Amino acid sequence: MTFQNDEVQLLQQEITKLKAENARLKSELNEEQNRVSELQRGNSAAEATDVPISFSEYEEALRRLVQRTAMIVQAEKCVILVRDRETGDLFARSPAWGMTEDQVFSYRIPVSTGFSGECFRTGKAQTLENAIHDRRGAEENLQAYGVKNGVSVPLLIEKHDENSRVVDRTIIGVLHCFNKRYGSEFVDEDVRLLERLARNAAAVIANAQAYQEVMEEKQKLVQTLESLTAGLILINQRGQVAQINAQARAIFHIASTASVVDRKYKDVIKHDQGLQIIDRCIKECSGEAPEVHHDEETLPRLPDEITVNDDEGDEFIYQVHAAGVRDGSDTLIGTVFIFNDITDIRNVEKMKTEFVSIVSHELRTPLTPMKGFVRTLLDDENEEWYDRESRREFYSIIETNVDRLSRLINDLLNVSRIERGAGIEMNWQDVEVRKAAESVVDIQKGRTDRHSLVIDFEPSEFVAESDPDIIQNILQNFVSNAIKYSEGGEVRVIGRMQEPSEEFPDGAVLLGVKDQGIGLTPAEIKKIGEKFFRSDNKKARSAGGTGIGLFLVKSLIAAHHGTMWVDSEVGKGSTFWFKFPVKQPPAEPAK
Ligand code: ADP
Repeated sequence: MTFQNDEVQLLQQEITKLKAENARLKSELNEEQNRVSELQRGNSAAEATDVPISFSEYEEALRRLVQRTAMIVQAEKCVILVRDRETGDLFARSPAWGMTEDQVFSYRIPVSTGFSGECFRTGKAQTLENAIHDRRGAEENLQAYGVKNGVSVPLLIEKHDENSRVVDRTIIGVLHCFNKRYGSEFVDEDVRLLERLARNAAAVIANAQAYQEVMEEKQKLVQTLESLTAGLILINQRGQVAQINAQARAIFHIASTASVVDRKYKDVIKHDQGLQIIDRCIKECSGEAPEVHHDEETLPRLPDEITVNDDEGDEFIYQVHAAGVRDGSDTLIGTVFIFNDITDIRNVEKMKTEFVSIVSHELRTPLTPMKGFVRTLLDDENEEWYDRESRREFYSIIETNVDRLSRLINDLLNVSRIERGAGIEMNWQDVEVRKAAESVVDIQKGRTDRHSLVIDFEPSEFVAESDPDIIQNILQNFVSNAIKYSEGGEVRVIGRMQEPSEEFPDGAVLLGVKDQGIGLTPAEIKKIGEKFFRSDNKKARSAGGTGIGLFLVKSLIAAHHGTMWVDSEVGKGSTFWFKFPVKQPPAEPAK
């Protein structure tokens, strides 16, 4: 009798403990739920890099839960199986109690079979008295995990309406306890206890899953923002940087290692023009300041632009777009800024304007003497005023200018051909390269008395597969530029025959034109060969030009399967190089 009293007392103690445990777990769960819903509400979406709670906290809550469950029902093992959304299988998820990591990892079964499957499908608790003899235990290979007996309850999530009526029930997995301690068996009381504990476990798992999904979404968002080519900065309502991507860091010279999230944007962005725009846009977005319009007639304002120099001193122009960011309840949570690189667009616009004025000038220049001399000749109707020799001279001036005009027009037509993607027709033949260089030098010699033109070939003569007109055209451009962009000195035309290499198995021809002229800056060198590029150098500008010669040359060199590059130093001179294979690779069959 005394013994029974003790037992009752023990049971009462156990129940009190369980109640306390249950209350504690509930409050733990509440806390977790609050945090998850806060996260989902997007409170922290604005601070995407700052994770408010860690996934490991959920794992820890589950670990405790599994351990306590095993203790309460006096089981050797306790494990949770959840449904894999992709395959539909049930798989064990850690943390588990009394099982090795490998066992947990390998524990996976289709919902249609086994002890776990039955519990999941029916939504009802199942007991397994003998894992060896029970078909369901065998289907699930429970023996491999040392299971003798067990009890399984579904992990059920219930959604309630405001009147606490259940409006939705979902089973997300099952909770197993295996091997009742002290050689006994699981009883109904264990099942009831487990069903209650399973509710907590189900809620924690559902929250953990929701949390993980939110985190994954957030991660995807962060990755997308990082890979944007535009700069992006999100500033929260406290004036702190909440999000900044790699491009925005690069624009504002912020090291990738510097932690700037949560710092005031005024302390982070060191760019006066940028700061002014950000200040104004924040005020406009929050309604603190009226939006400024382009003019009185309320035309929308043109987008703001900022000019930034990169580490190498090159100038970049960014268009700034700002927008208020609102959460689900339409509350303003920050202002997002997008910085779009429009440097190329601006440069092309600038170049186009310049190009139109340059081309008009270049077209008009030869027209003036042409018109003048034609008029003179017309006025001298009876050939009384000018003798035969003078008339010849006038005709030759007219011819030179017609040639100049037709060269310019040809260049322009070629640019548009290249732009259309039409290839260059090559009249391939064995060309004596020195002869090509000599005829270029002969023509160019007549155009200057300030330069000495030198041919420097090694070996003195050699042959390569090329088009005689095109190779001369390339050299003509290089030599005339060398003369144009230097006040005097030597212009050396270099030719070298190079030994076969991996890149050029039949050997290569290296041609270069070296001058002692104004030279180019490293930034200008990078732009050589770009359409309409002309350096800003005053001396170069005064020499005139259209900036299309080298653009065409680049295509002519590409047609040779060759490459072009420049060595240059401002004030010392430049060498324009061009290398191509001695024998052209066989033409690709037409598709
Ligand atoms: P253009 O000479 O008609 O302007 P190019 O395409 O031949 O056009 O050359 C583009 C620009 O490259 C020139 O405007 C000049 O600024 C620069 N350049 C070309 N050759 C030289 C050179 N030998 N030395 C210095 N600058 C050069």
